[in-house]
Amino acid sequence: MPKHPVPKKKTAKSTTKRRYSAFEKKVQKKLADRIHVVKCADCGAAKMVHHVCPECGKYKGRQVVDQAKKIDKITTVKA
Ligand SMILES: [Zn+2]
Repeated sequence: MPKHPVPKKKTAKSTTKRRYSAFEKKVQKKLADRIHVVKCADCGAAKMVHHVCPECGKYKGRQVVDQAKKIDKITTVKA
């Protein structure tokens, strides 16, 4: 007789899969609950709550990030 605990029966594939899928679902729900994504009031794009909209650069109706400057910054090539 072994001194450590030994399972009586082999765990079926379906049982393992069922257990894992339940766990996965739980984790995904937890993550989804943590990241609060809302629609932007100005452009309707998906943005994180309490964050500046990455599409229009507005926060609470105010223009916070100048989009024209942002585009210039991206297109500038350092030689
Ligand atoms: Zn927006």
